[in-house]
Amino acid sequence: MTFNDNAQLDTSQVQSGGSGGGGMAPGGIAVGGIGGLILMIIMVLLNGFGGGSGSTGGAGPWNMNPAQVASGADTSGSGAGNDQISQQISQCKTGADANRDDVCRIIGTVNSTQAFWRNYLPQYGKQYTDAKTVIFSGSTQSGCGTASSAMGPFYCPLDNKVYIDAAFFQELSGKYGADDGNLAKEYVLAHEYGHHVQNILGLLGRSQQDPEGANSASVRTELQADCFAGIWVAHATETKDANGNTLLQPITEQDIQSALSAAAAVGDDRIQEKAQGRVTPESWTHGSAAARQKWFMTGYQSGDINKCDTFSPATVE
Ligand SMILES: [Zn+2]
Repeated sequence: MTFNDNAQLDTSQVQSGGSGGGGMAPGGIAVGGIGGLILMIIMVLLNGFGGGSGSTGGAGPWNMNPAQVASGADTSGSGAGNDQISQQISQCKTGADANRDDVCRIIGTVNSTQAFWRNYLPQYGKQYTDAKTVIFSGSTQSGCGTASSAMGPFYCPLDNKVYIDAAFFQELSGKYGADDGNLAKEYVLAHEYGHHVQNILGLLGRSQQDPEGANSASVRTELQADCFAGIWVAHATETKDANGNTLLQPITEQDIQSALSAAAAVGDDRIQEKAQGRVTPESWTHGSAAARQKWFMTGYQSGDINKCDTFSPATVE
């Protein structure tokens, strides 16, 4: 979606990655990435390294050994990049900035997503609590261990923050093959905020008991976050800045196509096909391209959280 040029961005909802220093968290756990094996990390660390079949070979970051994530190889050199992010954040003032700069777009999207859920959840008797997004370059510390670019964006339920490398959007279109439309990018953040809403609603825990497989609780949790992203899109043009100005322009058909291209690009089957040349549904954690598109559209077309019950159907496709 395109921001209204005169909308005002609220930079207090984001922060830059830290400039390093200090040790890592003792055990890295992170859940709720946009795709790939992030959820495996929690299982491997809780169960010891015999616990999972998550390492499916291949060299891409989506097939990385969780142990490498946990050990957070590179924390050096993260300071300068993150200082630069801090500078970039401070220059994001308006919707016009969000339309031309990815860091500013992250801020605008976080503003809109949170404005929506803050307004939406109380009708179900729930209060939304704000969650910051940490925009980093290279790596940074999170409450779930070291966040690195290779992990992709994720939500950490231990510190209630979303983590995204400022360069991820280039990967999304370059490496994963999503189109480079606005809503492809915005969907990624809306998905992560979907996990935050799940956390508020007490829905995030189930994935840990059943972490893999085409109809696993992990996949159902991820697809629900896609559905929640769709709900936000359905209502996004109602969201306003602190001055009461509408943040976003009306949704276009091109926006929806961009969201669908991103949802498909981070489907487990697409990622596996690229990384290992074959598809193994028994190790899926996020769902197929088709399922991710389907649940995003379910949220978008209904705009209703009650339609995002991904746990009841026998199969999610
Ligand atoms: Zn996720």
